[in-house]
Amino acid sequence: MKIYVLENAFWNLLLSSVEVYPKECLGLVIGALNDDVSVIHHAVTFQTANRRRRDVEFPRHSVHRNVRSLLEEFLPHQRIVGDFHSHTTARADKLSPEDLATMEEGQVYVIIEVNKKRKSVPWRYNSTQTLLSGTTRQFFFRIAAWYKAPDDKRFRLAQLICQVSPGLSG
Ligand SMILES: [Zn+2]
Repeated sequence: MKIYVLENAFWNLLLSSVEVYPKECLGLVIGALNDDVSVIHHAVTFQTANRRRRDVEFPRHSVHRNVRSLLEEFLPHQRIVGDFHSHTTARADKLSPEDLATMEEGQVYVIIEVNKKRKSVPWRYNSTQTLLSGTTRQFFFRIAAWYKAPDDKRFRLAQLICQVSPGLSG
C-alpha cells in the first residue's frame, strides 16, 4: 500500500498532535482509497474525542455517519479512509493492544509520534519509506501509516509519500 498525504492534511496531522500535547489527538483521514494506493486530502480532528494520556475514545458511529453524509453531499469523490491519532508515549511503528482492538482491514491508520525534541534532526524517510521523521523547534515527530488488505494476515506499515514543505528542515 502506498499512501500519499497531501500538504494540508500533513500540516493538520502535525498541528493536531502539538495542539493537545502531551495528550493524544484523534481524527479522521478523508480522501481516496483503492487496492494499493490511498491519497489523503483531509485530516479532521475529532472534537468529540475524550482524550486521556494513553488512549482516546470517541463516539465513532455517530461521527462517521455525520461526516459520511456531508461528504456524499458535497465531496462525492472523497470518503473516510481511516483514522489518525498521536502517540506521546509509544512509537509510531508500534501498535498498542488498544490500537489493534479498534483497527479494521481496508482502513488507513496514520500514527503521529510526537515528543519534546532532544536534538535537531533533518526530515527524512527510513530506508523502506514507511516512516517519516524529523524535528521542529520544539518537537520530534515520527509518522507512520498502517494498513491491512483483506487477504493480509496482519497490519503492515504502508509506504508514505508526504507533501512536506521545503521549509521543514528541522
Ligand atoms: Zn495508538
